[in-house]
Amino acid sequence: MTHSLYYKFILGYLLFGLLGFISIATFSSEITDRYLLRHHSESLYDEANQIASSYSGMYQGKNRYLSSYPEMLKEVGYLHAQIWIMDRQGKVVADSRTPGIEGQVIEDFDPTFMGNKSYTIGNYYNQFPEEVLSVHAPITGNYTTYGYVAVHLPVSYLKAERDGILNIIYISSAVLFGLSLIILLVFTRTVYFPLKKITAGANEYAQGNLTHHIGVNTRDEMGYLAGTLNYMSDEMNKMDEYQKTFIANVSHDFRSPLTSIKGYLEAILDGTIPPELYEKYLTRVISETERLNSLTHGLLTLNSLDSKGYLNRTNFDINRVIKDTAASFEGTCNEKNITFDLIFSDSIQMVYGDLGKIQRVLYNLIDNAIKFSHPDSTIYIQASSKYEKIFISIKDTGIGIPKDSLKKIWERFYKTDLSRGKDKKGTGLGLAIVKEIIQSHGENIDVVSTEGVGSEFIFSLPKASNL
Ligand code: ADP
Repeated sequence: MTHSLYYKFILGYLLFGLLGFISIATFSSEITDRYLLRHHSESLYDEANQIASSYSGMYQGKNRYLSSYPEMLKEVGYLHAQIWIMDRQGKVVADSRTPGIEGQVIEDFDPTFMGNKSYTIGNYYNQFPEEVLSVHAPITGNYTTYGYVAVHLPVSYLKAERDGILNIIYISSAVLFGLSLIILLVFTRTVYFPLKKITAGANEYAQGNLTHHIGVNTRDEMGYLAGTLNYMSDEMNKMDEYQKTFIANVSHDFRSPLTSIKGYLEAILDGTIPPELYEKYLTRVISETERLNSLTHGLLTLNSLDSKGYLNRTNFDINRVIKDTAASFEGTCNEKNITFDLIFSDSIQMVYGDLGKIQRVLYNLIDNAIKFSHPDSTIYIQASSKYEKIFISIKDTGIGIPKDSLKKIWERFYKTDLSRGKDKKGTGLGLAIVKEIIQSHGENIDVVSTEGVGSEFIFSLPKASNL
């Protein structure tokens, strides 16, 4: 099955050779035969006519013997042909061959036996042991026919000539056939072998071996196809790995609050926790369920963004959204005595985006800034206009992010070691959601952070187009 394409090609090639040989053998031989017959009969006839006109010129109506000038025949003699001069009764009076058959009378000679044909093939009144091609030309003068010139060429001579020509055709075709083998070899190297590797690779992928690499690096369609498949398998492989870590993380993050809830409730039921401490532990149970709730909510949000969730874009004033979102944190800020410093380059700055989702971005970023800020500090939120964009920055002077964690904070479920102690409720999904939303807007988000100094998150949004 894997070889079928190649075998078909080889079969086609051999069939091409065979059919080529058969057609050359039949058609070429037929065409050459016809051509040689026509060519020779015409030139023999021309020669016969020439001889006939020389003879008739010599006679000029006088009744001389036709055999008077036999030497002439030797001079003009067509190679391999035999020329006779005959009188009207069919007596051969001169023969180009020596010894000739001069004096011999051809029995039943009929000058009209050729009809309207210019040549005949046969043994010419039983005069030849083999087949000959014969042509006739009358020797005329003064409205009288004195005799005839007959030229005979053995058919075996034509056959030998035909075989010579056919041999040349056969050899040329064989060389051509041999040369076309180069095409087959080039095809094998450039198409068949790479295709075989690609098919083997596709089989590996089908069997689940996504680490397989297809080693075709040519700069043509095959190389491109192999490259695309390699890329696809790499991506699928990453996806596979990602899926596994994702599930492991989800299970882990769901299991720990569930275990705590189960532990507290069992302790309440079996009396380990006395009724006076119920409130304290049930509050913890509620806090764990809230965590589970926010985990589920975060996952659902990510899922809807993953499936390239539809963006409901409108023009809105980003300054207002920032102010409103910051205000919603008033309670938490008061607890930690954190203040906001809002800096806007213009009083109204219209952007074009999905209002609800951008609110979510701001909420997550401000929430993090508050969570990881020290008490009595300030959070700086800035919105400034640059070219066609508005850049929004949320800057805190909190714990900062370690350098080697900077790239990982965007991954789902990732939390830095520094933050674990400070924020037990965090799901590690907030920044993943933020990044998805900003990217779905075709924009970028970046972070600048120094451990122990603080962090700044900056993202861009397009300005509203009708401004
Ligand atoms: P979480 O729900 O844990 O906040 P995020 O995805 O929002 O999840 O953040 C991932 C991690 O990135 C956080 O756990 C924290 O370690 C780090 N991080 C995010 N924002 C800040 C910040 N402003 N300062 C310090 N660390 C931060």
